[in-house]
Amino acid sequence: MVKCYDVIVAGSGSAGMAAAVRALHLGFSVLVLEKEQQWGGTSAASGGGVWIPNHGMKADGDSHEKAMTYLKAVSNGAVREDRLAAFVDNGSKMVSFLDEVGVRLHVLEGYPDYFPDAPGAHAGRALFPYEVDGASVGESAYTMREAPIRGKLFNRYSFGLDEAFALATKARGWRVIVGKMLWRYWSDLGWRKKTSRDRRLTMGSGLMGALRRAFDRMGGEMWMGTGLVGLHEEGGRVTGVEVERYGHRFRVEARHGVVIAAGGFEWNQEMRDRYFTLPTPAHWATTPERANDGKATLAGQEIGADVEFMETGWYIPSMIMPTIGVPNTAMTHQMSFDHGRPHSVCVNRNGERFVKETIAYDQFGLAMIEDNRKTGSSSVIWHVFDDQFREKYSSGGFMLKALMPDSKVPVHWWDHFIYRADTLGDLAAKIDVDGAALVKTVERMNEYARTGIDKEFGRGSDDYDRFFADQRVKPNGCIGTIEKGPFYAVPIVLGDMGTKGGLKADAQARVLNTNGVPIGGLYAAGNASGAITGNCYPGAGGTIGPAMTFGFIAANTIAALAANSR
Ligand SMILES: Cc1cc2nc3c(=O)[nH]c(=O)nc-3n(C[C@H](O)[C@H](O)[C@H](O)COP(=O)(O)OP(=O)(O)OC[C@H]3O[C@@H](n4cnc5c(N)ncnc54)[C@H](O)[C@@H]3O)c2cc1C
Repeated sequence: MVKCYDVIVAGSGSAGMAAAVRALHLGFSVLVLEKEQQWGGTSAASGGGVWIPNHGMKADGDSHEKAMTYLKAVSNGAVREDRLAAFVDNGSKMVSFLDEVGVRLHVLEGYPDYFPDAPGAHAGRALFPYEVDGASVGESAYTMREAPIRGKLFNRYSFGLDEAFALATKARGWRVIVGKMLWRYWSDLGWRKKTSRDRRLTMGSGLMGALRRAFDRMGGEMWMGTGLVGLHEEGGRVTGVEVERYGHRFRVEARHGVVIAAGGFEWNQEMRDRYFTLPTPAHWATTPERANDGKATLAGQEIGADVEFMETGWYIPSMIMPTIGVPNTAMTHQMSFDHGRPHSVCVNRNGERFVKETIAYDQFGLAMIEDNRKTGSSSVIWHVFDDQFREKYSSGGFMLKALMPDSKVPVHWWDHFIYRADTLGDLAAKIDVDGAALVKTVERMNEYARTGIDKEFGRGSDDYDRFFADQRVKPNGCIGTIEKGPFYAVPIVLGDMGTKGGLKADAQARVLNTNGVPIGGLYAAGNASGAITGNCYPGAGGTIGPAMTFGFIAANTIAALAANSR
């Protein structure tokens, strides 16, 4: 017998779960399909930032007009205005709704937008989830996607954002923070007997844990290990889906709508090669391995859906390092903010800088593409730093000395994954970069470190830079001398945290066909849909904020159309 639900959602990430919880709240029966054996998607492994302009959580001077001005400026006219307006109008409603169902967010004071000098920019739009007790999520907590290696201390202990910042820079009190984490974890004997996973759900796992708790309480159904592979249409309207589980295919019907929230196509090499401006290997993606393979997007295209912004990803400079204790595996680690820390510089193969290293990650990635287009020397670039950097900071997975002293680095990594030499000239020779140019670049950086002024790119000159600056480094908290050997270099690849392109949807999250007409019964949200900010990352939480808002909008649209048809 073919099963039937009011609403079927493909994908259990933030977009899918926001749509599912809203649809349940509106009285629909809901089935979430999750292709993998863990639910939560990249969202559960993420920092959990949710960018919502004019969120209304406090009177802080933001407004609808200001938000629209900013979005229009940074998305460069590439996004339809009604879609931008739908995001701004519904973002605050979505946040209030989440609060009502126990998914609580807070403002991170002062967190600047990623284009702090653009018109309409405003600090404080990034919201973050409160920590959630895993026990309150019940057994569903055990099967949630986990944070990547660097998202937990020693790959075990969860931390919140403040703790992450303190640990990343060895800020005052970092040892006390570590002590508290260890105590909290090991003293929780009851939980320890059940699982080695940390009971503290922070950042992305806090967000998804709270969503799942609401979903389970409202009676939502989720099938894991079951992927959407096709869409059924009747009379031009989507009425069901074809799914695959352990190689077996079958059909499930949807009375009111199918929401495609199955993430992007970053693990589909063929699609990357076909669409990306600068094709890169799929394993440079930093999202859960092989999960988001674009099959749901392809299913939409098969029934005539249009796509947009397929040429680009949500970029994040990354480095590749073997996984200690797991033979023959290497992992792509996000550099996060490391490439802009003092006592370091980023150079292309010509030994030259090409970007302000402190710029937000997506803009850094786009700058790599642009420099590679001009010079052919930036598909992989180098993070060069000295021993002062090693003392205080990490370079992607290559953690600071206190956590990973040189003596603990496996011998076969040196000069393969991480390069080290006593002089800059020797280092340049090892990494095949023009030595004279590298020495000159470093000399200039040392001059800027002393004067506090980066004459080339203005490192440390805007609110975003200052927010992440190391206040202990003077006169410019973003620049420190690179002069104390040994010197190190780590190759940085054009990593991504998903793709920006997907099914083209309208302001009501309805998927459009290639003639611009909505396909009945089909909706899209999150990375499965074309980014609502086009080729730009507007601020911290700039993918999850819109993803959840359009998931929420999709459920509202389904409810409105169902009411009309009664
Ligand atoms: C380490 C890290 C930190 C990040 N931090 C942030 C942050 O703080 N804020 C922010 O905004 N962004 C962040 N990002 C990016 C962000 O996590 C993603 O852009 C976002 O989670 C995408 O949400 P989604 O719901 O569209 O997709 P996902 O969360 O990836 O969920 C998609 C789900 O669909 C499933 N799926 C795929 N195909 C099918 C199919 N055919 N049928 C059924 N299921 C399918 C997948 O297995 C997956 O579970 C981060 C990314 C990473 C890697």
